[in-house]
Amino acid sequence: MLNNEHYPMQKKTGSENTGIICGAKTRTGAACKNKPVVGKKRCRMHGGTSRSGKDHWNYKHGYWTKEEKKQRSGMMRLLRAYMNDMLAF
Ligand SMILES: [Zn+2]
Repeated sequence: MLNNEHYPMQKKTGSENTGIICGAKTRTGAACKNKPVVGKKRCRMHGGTSRSGKDHWNYKHGYWTKEEKKQRSGMMRLLRAYMNDMLAF
């Protein structure tokens, strides 16, 4: 029996009774026995709550998303080509 006082983060998540465990490999090599985050496959210690894109907690306006950056670099290339054309005259 593990002493839970050493693992304060491993409190019950409210998704027990499902019989499903996280299963991520822990430092000891054993599968994680925590319950996965509801709707996810991993517990919150193993990325169950990690988010990306609009769901990410740092998401503000999408200015730095991959799509936006790609679009901007394309715009800059067009602008640069346009400027070169202007200078050529
Ligand atoms: Zn886990």
